[in-house]
Amino acid sequence: MATIFEKLQLVRARINQACSRAGRPADSVTLLAVSKTFPAETVREAFHAGQRKFGENYVQEGVDKIAALSDLRDQIEWHMIGPLQSNKTRAVAEHFDWVHTVDRLKIAQRLSEQRPAGLSPLQVCIQVNTSGEASKSGVLPDQALALARDVAALPHLTLRGVMALPAPTNDPVLQKAELHAVRVVFDSLVSAGLPLDTLSMGMSADLEAAIEEGSSMLRVGTALFGNR
Ligand SMILES: *Cc1c(COP(=O)(O)O)cnc(C)c1O
Repeated sequence: MATIFEKLQLVRARINQACSRAGRPADSVTLLAVSKTFPAETVREAFHAGQRKFGENYVQEGVDKIAALSDLRDQIEWHMIGPLQSNKTRAVAEHFDWVHTVDRLKIAQRLSEQRPAGLSPLQVCIQVNTSGEASKSGVLPDQALALARDVAALPHLTLRGVMALPAPTNDPVLQKAELHAVRVVFDSLVSAGLPLDTLSMGMSADLEAAIEEGSSMLRVGTALFGNR
C-alpha cells in the first residue's frame, strides 16, 4: 500500500498536471488535506511528509486533534470545513485558523464575537449552495453578496472567499456546470469589490475539473488517507 508521502506526491502530480492543462501556475492552487476520521498520528505522518494545511469536519474531533498535535500548532493551519451549529462556534473560534462553512450571518457574528483577542482574525469563506437542493447547507447564489458584505464588516473575521460542496455525480457535464456556477458566484463578489482570493472547491474525485474552473483551494481526503 502506498504511504502518505507517496499519495501526497500523486495528488500533487495530479494538481500540477491539471494546472498546466488549464494554463495556471501550479502554486495558484493550495492543497488542504482533509483528515476527518483519521487519528492525530496520521496527521503527524502527513506533516512529516510536508503537508501543512488540514481540514476537519467535526468540531470536537478537530479540537481533540489540534490538542494532540499542540507541539506543531505554530506550523499547521487548521481549517473547519464541516457544517457549523451555533453551539459549536466558540470552540471553532478559539481553536481553528479558517472556517469554510459560514452560510448565515448569525454564525459569522458569533465567530467574530468569540474569536479570542490574542489571535489574528479568523479566515472565513462563505459556503454557497449552487445545486438548489433545499436540504443542503450554503447560502443561495442570489443572497451571497448581501451575506458576504455583512461578514466582511465583522471585526474579528477576514472574508477570504467562497466554498462549495457540489452534489456528487458521475456525469462530467453536470459536475462541470456546478463547479462553474460556483465560479460565477465568486467572480460576481469580486466584481462587486470584495477583495477575495480563495475559491474552495474540488475534492479527490473532481479536483481536475475544479482546477479547470478556477479553484484555488482543494479539499482532498480519500486520495491522501484512503477510504473512511
Ligand atoms: C470529506 C470532505 C472532503 C474530502 O472529500 P474526499 O472525497 O474524501 O476527497 C472535502 N470537503 C468536505 C466539505 C468534506 O466533508
